[in-house]
Amino acid sequence: MIVVLRAGIPASEVERLREVLRGEGYECEFESVLQEQFLVCRSVSGAPPADAVSRLMASEWVTKVFAQETRYPRIGIERGGSRSRVAAGNLQFGRGEFGMIVGPCTVEDEATLLEIARFAKTIGAGGLRGGAYKPTTSPYSFQGHGQAALKMLERAREETGLAIVTELIDVRLVEQAACAADVIQIGARSMQNFPLLREVGQAGKPVLLKRGMGCKIHEWLCAAEYIADAGNERIVLCERGIRSFDDATRACLDVSAIPASQSLTHLPVIFDPSHASGNRNLVEALALAGTAAGADGVMIEVHPHPERAIKDGAQSVNFEQMSRIAKKIWAMRENGLVAEVGLEPTTPRV
Ligand code: PEP
Ligand code: MN
Repeated sequence: MIVVLRAGIPASEVERLREVLRGEGYECEFESVLQEQFLVCRSVSGAPPADAVSRLMASEWVTKVFAQETRYPRIGIERGGSRSRVAAGNLQFGRGEFGMIVGPCTVEDEATLLEIARFAKTIGAGGLRGGAYKPTTSPYSFQGHGQAALKMLERAREETGLAIVTELIDVRLVEQAACAADVIQIGARSMQNFPLLREVGQAGKPVLLKRGMGCKIHEWLCAAEYIADAGNERIVLCERGIRSFDDATRACLDVSAIPASQSLTHLPVIFDPSHASGNRNLVEALALAGTAAGADGVMIEVHPHPERAIKDGAQSVNFEQMSRIAKKIWAMRENGLVAEVGLEPTTPRV
């Protein structure tokens, strides 16, 4: 980190800044080149300058701070030199593996869930999604069948061997969710629930972290850093569409967030074209776009009778639509028709 100082800075202020920096874990040298004066600082622990920059900028004698240290010491691309793979049974993401998760928005009844799970196997999906506890904008919306739904998901896993992906919304339910889920989903609305992130970081299961609908990539990666810092680096990031000025779609799938985040983190990055589009007739186009952009997986809402779904029927594809999407995705992957981003190609080169 380099701190640029205003000409004429009193020696006492230089000493005070050194003190601030020492308190933040930095060693620094005072340097003077022609008219310019600097503090050249090095972090002793390697930790990012989380609060140091704003404390330095509060001084009227500091004109600029260049902080080059990684902002993501655990999940940053600099860590380890290779991309991470996150696996839950046959559901694998990253370093050449593409994970496909399908299922209903919310778990409705056992028969429907099993019908979807059996279908998911036939198209090569490795994961079954389904909400047991739903975060809902209105307190009067259906909020899921709770523990009964978790039991249904467990039965679907027993029968099909699919990895179960289900959302956790409440710190008090971590243990319950960790028992039923193979991958714990943290939804867009919970992305900055920091106590929940720390808790799920200790649950011993991979975490699927959705991007908040109004959150920058930096905030999303910081949320992942919370989970990693709590002890769990098995994290999969999921782009699910962000708010825009346009209401023609439910959200705006930020396709560029896929390669942009892959260039900043070694973690796998997947996407969700269902919540992004809000419209089942747009899901195929978005699913192929995200795959082409080099995503490490996809999550899609599927229902045998979307018009009868309790939740998100408008964006749920039926079995016929999902079969076609899956066929095209696998064909694109097999033929290497996807972008290569980051440290290693995501597929064999064509
Ligand atoms: C979901 O996947 O069921 C969900 C609620 O998505 P999001 O958190 O992205 O809105
Ligand atoms: Mn949904």
